[in-house]
Amino acid sequence: MPTYTAPTRDTRFIVNEMLDLASYGNLPGFESATPDMIDTVINEAGKFCGEVLAPLNQVGDVQGCTHHEDGSVTTPEGFKEGYRSYVESGWGTISAPEEFGGQGLPHVLGFVVEEYMSTANQAFAMYPGLTTGATSALLAKGSDEQKQMYVPKMISGEWSGTMNLTEPHCGTDLGMIRTKAEPQADGSYSITGTKIFISAGEHDLTSNIIHLVLAKTPGAPDSSKGISLFVVPKFILDENGDPGERNGVTCGSIEKKMGIHGNATCVLNYDGAKGWLVGEENKGLAAMFIMMNAARLGVGLQGLAQAEVSYQNAVTYALDRRQGRALTGPKDPEEKADPIFVHPDVRRMLMDAKVFNEGMRALCLWGALQVDLTHKAQTEEERQLADDLIGLMTPVIKGYGTDKGYDIANNMQQVYGGHGYVREWGMEQFVRDSRIAMIYEGTNGVQAMDLCGRKLASKGGRAVQAFFAMIDEEIESAKQVDELKGLAEKLEKALAEQKAATMWFMQNAMQNPNHLGAGAHHYMHMMGIVTLGLMWLKMARVAVEALKGSPEDAAFYEAKLTSANYYAERFLPDAGALRRKLEAGSENMMALGEEAFATAA
Ligand SMILES: Cc1cc2nc3c(=O)[nH]c(=O)nc-3n(C[C@H](O)[C@H](O)[C@H](O)COP(=O)(O)OP(=O)(O)OC[C@H]3O[C@@H](n4cnc5c(N)ncnc54)[C@H](O)[C@@H]3O)c2cc1C
Repeated sequence: MPTYTAPTRDTRFIVNEMLDLASYGNLPGFESATPDMIDTVINEAGKFCGEVLAPLNQVGDVQGCTHHEDGSVTTPEGFKEGYRSYVESGWGTISAPEEFGGQGLPHVLGFVVEEYMSTANQAFAMYPGLTTGATSALLAKGSDEQKQMYVPKMISGEWSGTMNLTEPHCGTDLGMIRTKAEPQADGSYSITGTKIFISAGEHDLTSNIIHLVLAKTPGAPDSSKGISLFVVPKFILDENGDPGERNGVTCGSIEKKMGIHGNATCVLNYDGAKGWLVGEENKGLAAMFIMMNAARLGVGLQGLAQAEVSYQNAVTYALDRRQGRALTGPKDPEEKADPIFVHPDVRRMLMDAKVFNEGMRALCLWGALQVDLTHKAQTEEERQLADDLIGLMTPVIKGYGTDKGYDIANNMQQVYGGHGYVREWGMEQFVRDSRIAMIYEGTNGVQAMDLCGRKLASKGGRAVQAFFAMIDEEIESAKQVDELKGLAEKLEKALAEQKAATMWFMQNAMQNPNHLGAGAHHYMHMMGIVTLGLMWLKMARVAVEALKGSPEDAAFYEAKLTSANYYAERFLPDAGALRRKLEAGSENMMALGEEAFATAA
């Protein structure tokens, strides 16, 4: 059975040393994040996820959820107890606002918990994960009354939340939504329509489920400009604010799917269900984007999560499994064979995983800090910079992070040879579970278009210019440090490729928008590679400084430097190849007519 140990040492390194969270102590919420508090959150969350959630991962996969004739859904064995324990420990409250029962701690710490939960058990973590997204939309766009009615119990975990966008005929193109919302005399709306693929849409973990639903009011524009957002509770609240009358929303079926079996993916039928408008009419998509942006970062974490858990198990296996001899001569001459860990090709896969995971963890937590700074930084200029950077990075964290997360999980399965392909070792589950993250919350193709079609050009390119300036600054300062000069120069080269690609888009995409569509995936990966390069440069800088003090765990910091160099030599050069693909434009890609794709008999 696979195991999971939360990487608490690495998290502490990023939070305390790389991000230096203590230096933000003057900002609201950060003052409570004392070193002791940070340690407690990291260690206790790690323990909870390793001991309570990870053991439920395989059983969740094998049993899956069960849909009953009356529309109810039961989650796999142990999920209810695990969820109760999650609520009692207050893990959902970490970074939620204090006025609604949260602890008001930085998002950085909330992200640590989210990473550990997704890594231990992605299917389980999605129940509270969707609740967090729904809560953030209500907090941003809900009326005061709606916030008071729903948010405290969603934060505590007593109730859960969902997001209802997708319909059978529309996923990416939400302008085509058909679900109707008819205004009623009492100020509510009657919601009718069918939503599909709704994660956590029905289950037995909470006493109420708060659905956030996109629908169209009569006469609304027939496009994405005519979508409104509604809150539709499974049980309508009574005069005391408790779940009362059953609302007209039922689960018609649950999907049989490739992975995340422990999470119910539901068809939800709305049959005159009572709902209430959230925010303004026809502004629903903007409200939903608040929820989706939070959720997209969470999905990026899922990429890291499956890469991390599969890596941990692959390392154990590679140290144990004996096949062949080291190319440089037997390592264990008394045994019949050496551990496969000695083979450079196995090491290639493990090193790729190690440097991606540590770099991605740094990027996700750095991203979480930008989310905090967007709201809490002291000056408008700092808040705007953080907002620009996290806006630019969200599709990269989601798109690049999950593309790579899947690749890594796949490679970790490869480390097991044939044993990775059979169920017993659990590796094939990690690959299956990781696959969905490339699809939901907007496919990765859509993330790439969001980055290249919207974010790059937005506000005259302000965000991407700020991004380049931030990396230039880090490179210039690293070049002054002997141990970092080589790393900085390699990052500089990769960054130059990205700047050139950006320029190419500017010069060519206007005259032929297909050029943008054809290169968007490559550009998103290039940006992911460069950004992880920045994270590795930051981590290397901390390691160089720490080693000057001859720390007890010098090996940890030395490994960081070796890994940074590995990243610089083996990941950064890909930026050049990606730029050349991008600059090949779209003609080749779009040249063949439909008939050329037909298979000849
Ligand atoms: C397990 C699971 C859980 C889910 N959970 C939820 C949930 O909780 N709530 C919810 O509302 N939805 C949920 N979804 C739906 C999910 O978000 C959609 O499947 C996804 O957005 C893609 O929509 P689609 O499946 O209709 O694909 P389509 O939109 O039909 O896309 C098909 C392909 O075309 C590409 N494509 C489409 N349009 C463009 C374009 N303009 N430019 C470039 N490429 C394009 C896509 O990238 C994709 O490769 C879930 C789906 C699954 C499978």
